[in-house]
Amino acid sequence: MTDSLLIVMYHYVRPIAGSRYPTLKGLELDNFRGQLDFLEQHYRIVRTQDVIAAMRGEGDLPSRAALLTFDDGYMDHYDHVLPELVARGMQGSFFPPACAVLDGRVLDVNKIHFVLASGVDPRQLVCEIFALLDVHRVRHDLKPNADYYRLYSNESRYDTPDVTFIKRILQKGLPQALRSEIVDQLFQRFVTADEKGFAESLYMGKAQLRELHDAGMCIGSHGDQHRWLNTLSPVEQRQEIERSLDFLGELGVPTQDWVMCYPYGGYNASLLEILREKQCAMGLTVEVGLADLSRNDPLSLPRLDTNDVPFSAAAGLDAFQWAATSVAMPEPEEGA
Ligand SMILES: [Zn+2]
Repeated sequence: MTDSLLIVMYHYVRPIAGSRYPTLKGLELDNFRGQLDFLEQHYRIVRTQDVIAAMRGEGDLPSRAALLTFDDGYMDHYDHVLPELVARGMQGSFFPPACAVLDGRVLDVNKIHFVLASGVDPRQLVCEIFALLDVHRVRHDLKPNADYYRLYSNESRYDTPDVTFIKRILQKGLPQALRSEIVDQLFQRFVTADEKGFAESLYMGKAQLRELHDAGMCIGSHGDQHRWLNTLSPVEQRQEIERSLDFLGELGVPTQDWVMCYPYGGYNASLLEILREKQCAMGLTVEVGLADLSRNDPLSLPRLDTNDVPFSAAAGLDAFQWAATSVAMPEPEEGA
């Protein structure tokens, strides 16, 4: 038996090279297949039920246990992930934000991804954002552009300073309403004016999610509107959770012993209180690391990004730094 659990976090999984968005930051489908080969060879893929039972002392996980988690409810997961998992007899856990499915809206975070992948030069985008900030400066009492750039362009292990700035200022750095307005304008200009049509091709609908559930996959909550839940009042947090649980109920997914995946990894004490009251059994963060079921709170388990796990069985276990448990923690990603 073991208390160590590798939880792998996935977002986009699709053929990317040669697609309309060749620079989209996602996992190339062939690498996904190679990674499953690696995991199949060296790990045992477990189900959420097994992990919940182990956390309660009602069962043991095998050594080198791994759980596969897929955030944001992308159609990628239906088109490309589901067939692979079914063919290999593996369970995955999927976390669709309710509003993306129910309202035909594209999440701001996804609009930002596709604006960045549209082929427009990031420098040009930075200038466009500066120009929009100039328009709104007085009304929103904004700081000078150079201050924002200094604040949000700090080095990241994934992106250039311009891209880091674009993501951070649009994801978190401005008041919510203004942020959404600017993201909308950039999305319409550089990606499409047909948001509803784009949403329908980007996210799974209820029919696909029901198919996943029927195939033995786990469907959990990713909130309603993909907000930073740690920035909301307890009343707003409760609305987010209740709407997402109603949505899971509509899909026929049990809402007892369910799994929460925090958008952007954001949670706090008042949210945890609501989750306990609602009988949430497991919470997934974006903290980087292997989960240790004997030490971690069941509602705040760390994960590893797919990019931190080898893409081929040929890599061998010694190519995977996390196969040995005591290594330094890299900076967490600020993605979706
Ligand atoms: Zn997400």
